Amino acid sequence: LFSLEGKTVAITGGARGLGITLAIAVVEAGGSVACLDILEQPSADEWALLNKIAKANGSSVSYQRCDVTNEDSVDEVMTAIATEADKNGAPFWGCIACAGIQQQLSAFDYPAADFDRILKVNVTGVFNTCKYTARVLRDRKTPGSIVMIASMSGNIANRGLACTAYNTSKAAVQQMCRSLAQEFGEYQIRCNTLSPGYIRTAMTDQLLIENPEVEKTWMAGALLGRLGAPEDFKAPAVFLLSEGASFVHGSDLRVDGGHCA
Ligand code: NAD
Repeated sequence: LFSLEGKTVAITGGARGLGITLAIAVVEAGGSVACLDILEQPSADEWALLNKIAKANGSSVSYQRCDVTNEDSVDEVMTAIATEADKNGAPFWGCIACAGIQQQLSAFDYPAADFDRILKVNVTGVFNTCKYTARVLRDRKTPGSIVMIASMSGNIANRGLACTAYNTSKAAVQQMCRSLAQEFGEYQIRCNTLSPGYIRTAMTDQLLIENPEVEKTWMAGALLGRLGAPEDFKAPAVFLLSEGASFVHGSDLRVDGGHCA
């Protein structure tokens, strides 16, 4: 039901953290992946594991540098991934738009240029990723699935964290998804958001360096007594990508351990 066999998925932010873990999940589900990121290379250990699983499954794996804010680059890369996917016998199926950035700073001091930068990556970058994924699928007349990584911060303001730009961007992604669903449905291209709670990655490690006290607040809201790990999001992401979610469209799947703000 949840197999991704014979399908290729592009994953932005695929060099590390949640993105590369979701790439591993796609390959474990039998799919092939194209990881995209601005970083020169992916995290070595996870990359080695990804390739090992891919080899055992007969899946394909690739890594390309791509800045999601550069529209021409996203267009080129998505077209190239689809062409390569055909050669590998696992046609292009969709994407996980996971690239994102965070900056904690009081709203009283937030420079407008920094606010714009967060929106550019987290909103316009997600839009570029979805747009060019959907164009490739539409032009090939094939169905597909798009998963956009939002955040529970799209719905709540996290106590103790000054993250207005980030929270605004994630609410925008949730609304973008509902709006894109209106247009993409006609082409059998499903799109959904996956909204995680706190996950221990480089992103949250940075927040903890800046403000170690905040961990107590996070834990106070953690009904399962722990923060999330990237692995907690593997099955939800595979579900949304797979044909098991064939009637799930324009939805938000919140995976936050029941977090209470
Ligand atoms: P991370 O910083 O480890 O990973 C983000 C990745 O995005 C990095 O590899 C980075 O290089 C890449 N990236 C940044 N700007 C880019 C650009 N312009 N083009 C291409 N790639 C770019 O953080 P993470 O925790 O793995 O976050 C992944 C996603 O999950 C983000 O969208 C984040 O907002 C979301 N999220 C994270 C948490 C959390 O607690 N960590 C919670 C909710 C949602």
